[in-house]
Amino acid sequence: MAHQLPILTNTWSPEPQPLEDDGAAPPWPHQPTVEWQVCGQCNYDCSYCIQSKKYRVGYPTRDELDAALDFLNGLPGQWEVKMTGGEPFASRLLLDHIVPRLVAGSHTISTLTNLSASTKQLQRFAALTHGRLGIVSASLHLEFTRVPDFIARLELLRDHAHANARFVVNMVLVPDRLAEVAAAKREVEAAGFRWFGQLMKVKRGLHPYTAAQMREVEAIIGDLELATRTRSANMAPAYTGRRCWTGARYLVLLQSGDAWACRTARRHDQGFLGNVVRGQVELRPGPIRCPYSICPCTVPANRGMIEGVAR
Ligand code: SF4
Ligand code: SF4
Repeated sequence: MAHQLPILTNTWSPEPQPLEDDGAAPPWPHQPTVEWQVCGQCNYDCSYCIQSKKYRVGYPTRDELDAALDFLNGLPGQWEVKMTGGEPFASRLLLDHIVPRLVAGSHTISTLTNLSASTKQLQRFAALTHGRLGIVSASLHLEFTRVPDFIARLELLRDHAHANARFVVNMVLVPDRLAEVAAAKREVEAAGFRWFGQLMKVKRGLHPYTAAQMREVEAIIGDLELATRTRSANMAPAYTGRRCWTGARYLVLLQSGDAWACRTARRHDQGFLGNVVRGQVELRPGPIRCPYSICPCTVPANRGMIEGVAR
């Protein structure tokens, strides 16, 4: 079946306003979540990286990290703190300072990583987060790693983590490497891990796949409409007009300390919540109605932030 790829339009729309009397949290099972960029630096330089090289640098100072950690550990209830980068393990403070301080709080700890850390670092991470690790989203980048090495590292992490920690392998459906992506998927699944494909993003939306490439994508992930509906792959759906609790029960915290309601809002220069270093973050009191024509990040949907999208 033909699948229309959404385009990120940049037409101006006013800053969405919180809806009155709709409750501070979704009235269905959900997981409050912060995606926290613990550093900008990455040790890879993938040709399809959505973060421009110019911004894929930098480490917050210890004081800036402490401001973020104070804010996170002060959030009421049990949130999931998903550490992102750059590459989180590129920060030498990750294991010496960040994770120990997070573990001292009450939240679940997750991470997005390219899994290039040493086996010693991975073992230490598993030990520090034991009993508190939520999800490891491991991104497999064929430009920088070999599949057997990647799987060996993931198996090591799984063997040292507690039993109910979850692991998922993400791969970009790189248009001119789809045969290799398909082969890698088979190896990942044969090793007992969940594999998750994502369409390649470019600055203003999605890469324009040809019809032939989309047939290859379909051969890898299955029926595209079904994958969109069940979110078994990131097909960058649209949730325009639905109630969304991002900014209230989900936010993105950047290495600068800036907090944003969601990544799409940020791209439209909307949904700014304040800065943790300046100590002025204000969460939204409730949901907004999504005004955006594409929702390319899976975390808000997967954590139950969006009306009609079950976790
Ligand atoms: S590992 Fe991730 S952040 Fe680093 S260059 Fe590749 S896509 Fe970008
Ligand atoms: S997370 Fe998705 S649904 Fe929610 S406001 Fe952002 S783009 Fe819209």
